[in-house]
Formats: sequence, structure tokens, C-alpha cells
Amino acid sequence: MEKIAIVTGASQGIGRDIAKHLARHRIKVIANYNKSEREANELKKELERENIQVDIVKADVSKREDIKKLVQYVIEKYKKIDILVNNAGISEYKLFTDETDDDWNKVINTNLYSAFAMSQEVIPYMIQKKDGCIINISSIWGIVGASMEVLYSISKAGMNGLTKALAKEIGPSNIRVNSIAPGMIETKINNRFSKEDIEQIKEDIPLERIGKTEDIARCVEWLVEDRYTTGQIISINGGWNIV
Ligand code: NDP
Repeated sequence: MEKIAIVTGASQGIGRDIAKHLARHRIKVIANYNKSEREANELKKELERENIQVDIVKADVSKREDIKKLVQYVIEKYKKIDILVNNAGISEYKLFTDETDDDWNKVINTNLYSAFAMSQEVIPYMIQKKDGCIINISSIWGIVGASMEVLYSISKAGMNGLTKALAKEIGPSNIRVNSIAPGMIETKINNRFSKEDIEQIKEDIPLERIGKTEDIARCVEWLVEDRYTTGQIISINGGWNIV
């Protein structure tokens, strides 16, 4: 029977590539987007040219009511959810002392609350069939912390805590929960870096390159197939941080 996957934030960047990889492996993908309707439609058309149907659904995953509607839509249409990829995220680059409560709410709700609430809404359907795979797209900064990105680092460290604790709680229902912690990946989230900045960063990366979205998508594919990995934070960063 066809597997059903929800990928949040799939209109662009890493999420878009994850959606493509899963869809090309005969998984029915529900690709969520929020603001980028045009890009989501382009993703749908690109896959249609390969005779693959992907469902695109608008939802702001920082809001419980949108999440409930998204999950309800999937259950009514497909009757089950096998895979959840919590990928939607935003960055924030500011001095800590300039951060406001609004910044806190925006970053934490988009990056962390979304993974909490999406998981809460989806898990009952996974428990019913005693099978499921949740993948949280975290970050290297959730492990080592980033200057000028304190809120972002908090949100990703929180995601790693969610991953570990939830893996223990729902492991007995055969639901695997893992994080992928990318290093620097070529997407628009890094647009603020100059060419010179990027060259300098590359010098600190043993594999001497910035990551590509497919480097992350390949790991998602592997986690979906795997049966015995849970509660792990998998670093994919070209060796930028080795612990
Ligand atoms: P992009 O900015 O390229 O894409 C972000 C995606 O998240 C978009 O599809 C956007 O959808 C979606 N999104 C943002 N807010 C919401 C929301 N409220 N509801 C639904 N979707 C939302 O970023 P990346 O692809 O680089 O990032 C993807 C994930 O990977 C993020 O969680 C990021 O933190 C993480 N990451 C990225 C790294 C990198 O170097 N690129 C490194 C480490 C982690 P839309 O445009 O439709 O609103």
C-alpha cells in the first residue's frame, strides 16, 4: 500500500527537494506551503511532467488551527499518515539584546511549536497502526549555538530535545523520531552571506563545499526506509562540526 507523507515548508529549498525525492520513490507526498503558492504550483507541475501527482496544501504551521485543517484534509483523503517531515523554518539574524517578544514568538512558533503541534496532531493516527516515522529538520546551530542567532539556536535545540524525548515515549508504538541537523545548505535562507563569507566558511569544512538540498533529502529517504534508528540527531555538515 502506498505510503503517505506530509512535508512542511515544501515550496522551497530543502523541503521542496525532500518532497521531490519521496514522491519519486512512490510515496504520496502532501507538500505544505504557506506564502509561496507560485513555487508550490511549480513543484506540482514539475512532478506532473514525470507522471507523479503531489498534493500541495496551504497552511501556516505556526498556527494550531491551520495544522488541524491540514491533518484533517490528509486523513479524510488518504485515511492514514505514515511519514511526517517537520521542515518549515525561518532564520533570524540579530543581536540578542535587540530581540523582541515578537521575534521570540515568530521564530519559536515557526520552527519549534510547528513540530510540537504537527506531531501532536499526527501521532494518534500513527499509534492506531503502530507504525510511523517523524523527521525533524533541525540545525548545526541547535547543537553548537550561533552568535546573532540565539532564538534560532534555541528553536533547533528545542527540536532536538523534542526528538529525543518523543522517541522514548512513542517508541513502544513503533514510531521512530529523528532529527537531521544540516550544516550550511545552498538555499535562500543563507542569502545574507556574501560570496566572500561563503568562501571563508568553506575553508572550515573538511569536505570543502556547502551542502546541497539533495544531501539532506537523501538522508530523509534513508530514514524512511530504516527500521531501527530512533532518537538520533544526525549531523550532515561536510564535517564542519565533528563531535
Ligand atoms: P527556505 O527559506 O529556502 O525555505 C523555507 C520553507 O519553509 C519555505 O518553503 C517556506 O514556505 C516554509 N515556511 C516558513 N514558514 C512557514 C510557515 N509558517 N508555515 C508553513 N511553511 C513555512 O529555507 P531552507 O530550505 O534552507 O530551510 C528548511 C529547513 O532547514 C528550516 O527548518 C531551516 O531552519 C533548516 N536548515 C537550513 C539550513 C540551510 O543552511 N539552508 C541549515 C540548517 C537547517 P513559504 O515560502 O511557502 O512560506
